[in-house]
Amino acid sequence: MTTMDESEIYPLSAHAHFHFRCGPEVSCFNACCGNLTQYLSPYDILRLKKNLGVSSSVFLASYTQRHDGPRSGLPVVTLRPRSESEATCPFVTPRGCRVYEDRPASCRMYPIMRMAARDRETGNIREEFMLIREPHCRGFSTDRKVSVSAWMEEQGLLPYNAANDDFLRILAVKRDKYPGMLPTDMSDRIYTALYDSDRFAGAMKNTASAEEDEAFLHAAYDYVIGCL
Ligand code: SF4
Ligand code: SF4
Repeated sequence: MTTMDESEIYPLSAHAHFHFRCGPEVSCFNACCGNLTQYLSPYDILRLKKNLGVSSSVFLASYTQRHDGPRSGLPVVTLRPRSESEATCPFVTPRGCRVYEDRPASCRMYPIMRMAARDRETGNIREEFMLIREPHCRGFSTDRKVSVSAWMEEQGLLPYNAANDDFLRILAVKRDKYPGMLPTDMSDRIYTALYDSDRFAGAMKNTASAEEDEAFLHAAYDYVIGCL
């Protein structure tokens, strides 16, 4: 067990069980949505912008912040909190999450953390898991027991994991070809291809973008790898 601030972190396997229940009945309902550092994957953004019925460009401008990795120059995107003074998610309401059906992977996964690594030779994915116990989270005070793999399935994580694992191809090529910072113009092109899907699809004259998320992202990742 590792401690991080007041939190406790335990490694566990995909078959291990843990006690957890979250929902409007818990006394801490919405607590975790009020203290936010939320990274968004390209797949998260495809799901969220569709849920909200807006283009990827409007979604990015309205709800996110772009950052460039300080050592890699790779663009990353976080959800922009509702205001500068509080780190509240823009989608939380008194009744819960207003984008629940398409909430990001990290919201689905909590209180589990999943780390994935891709074998360069075989492309096989190796997964490791951690359980995070934070003092504010009352979800552990329950008799309900669930395995990590069942949790991922019930939380609808399988397409998220598949798309995010596919993304690991980019990181491997980036490390080989550009071990340092990316040039800014390349970082901008990669940002558009990964996160601004409608703009990228328009530029590529790709009509498959809207309905075929995984295939579209796979093609966008291939494009990024070709840029590197
Ligand atoms: S997207 Fe939904 S579940 Fe995730 S932090 Fe925001 S309100 Fe909470
Ligand atoms: S703090 Fe834990 S139990 Fe409470 S709403 Fe968030 S995930 Fe659910």
